Amino acid sequence: MVCLHCLTPSVEPRVSDHMSQIIDMIKQIIDNGCAYEIDGDVYFSVDKFPEYGRLSGRKLEDNRAGERIAINSRKKNPADFALWKSAKEGEPFWESPWGLGRPGWHIECSAMSAAYLGYSFDIHGGGMDLVFPHHENEIAQSCAACNHSNISYWIHNGFVTIDSEKMSKSLGNFFTIRQVIDRYHPLALRLFLMGTHYRSPVNYSDVQLETASERVFYIYQTLQDCENVLSQYNESIQEDSIPPDTAKCINKFHDDFLASMSDDLHTPVVLAALSEPLKTMNDLLHTRKGRKQAMRIESLGALENVIRNALSILGLMSTCYSEVLQQLREKALKRADLTESQVLEKIEERTGARKSKNYEKSDAIRKDLAAVGIALMDSPGGTTWRPAIPSALQEQ
Ligand SMILES: [Zn+2]
Repeated sequence: MVCLHCLTPSVEPRVSDHMSQIIDMIKQIIDNGCAYEIDGDVYFSVDKFPEYGRLSGRKLEDNRAGERIAINSRKKNPADFALWKSAKEGEPFWESPWGLGRPGWHIECSAMSAAYLGYSFDIHGGGMDLVFPHHENEIAQSCAACNHSNISYWIHNGFVTIDSEKMSKSLGNFFTIRQVIDRYHPLALRLFLMGTHYRSPVNYSDVQLETASERVFYIYQTLQDCENVLSQYNESIQEDSIPPDTAKCINKFHDDFLASMSDDLHTPVVLAALSEPLKTMNDLLHTRKGRKQAMRIESLGALENVIRNALSILGLMSTCYSEVLQQLREKALKRADLTESQVLEKIEERTGARKSKNYEKSDAIRKDLAAVGIALMDSPGGTTWRPAIPSALQEQ
């Protein structure tokens, strides 16, 4: 989580440490007339909560019709759910006003969130599969315990599919984040995940991760090139001296960023919007177009700032550009099953072949490296390499 730039949680509560809060909440719900006890079990009475079903869009009648489990005759309504269950042989149990038992599966979340955040808070998250019944029941319990209870935003994420098949242990296409970041840079994984809106299913594939890796490399190479140019100038950049076309590009990006993030955190649009300022930066870095040097420096400084800020908000910022670039190169070499010195040897071999006009051999070397994700770049100063999407993968 840390290398994916996820912030550390302030609290990670355990249910077994909050038994008294859970019991107090159940007592409160009973006192408010929304739950009843039968032989050591306590059930929530859904008929007492007219809003039941609002989050998932289900109606109580639908639930009844869909009830396939043998109807528990002790419940007043088959849709009623357990707040407390009496102890069963071999299960852990705690003391309660209703005898020995354990909490139902939903009450723990209501009790713990109320304990740390109060009955009203901003954001509640979870997987798509938790909308019903878990979160529906959480809302019912919290509102029954406290009528001011309110959660402003429910954030439900889509599932991961692999090569368009659902990720599951039984299909054998199951793997962990640790295994992914052994092959790919954590920032590439993060960028890939942000490339899909969080409510949609995420389709994992090697091509997608290669594409994300190449994108991170491009972003960081642009920032590094920019820093190399800027570090030659000492004067600080004056906000009011930014050329109008750069200011226009920055303002447009700023507006797009705010609009997309305000639209239910629409990160794929934000990532696409980064293309324009990055392209402008590369144009300034690699083509002169008769610009005055001073104007170019002001533009680069302003663009670098705006991109850094956006990447920081998205959790994609790392302060040391060269370190990220080096890590991306190392991951690419690992996937290609090559060492850096083997690549350099190939480059030397190719340079020799070109000198003796053996273009067939030099092309073959370039092609072989491109197949495994090593792209060669020729410049007057010699040939260098950078990671790229393996051509062998692209052809699939
Ligand atoms: Zn929960």
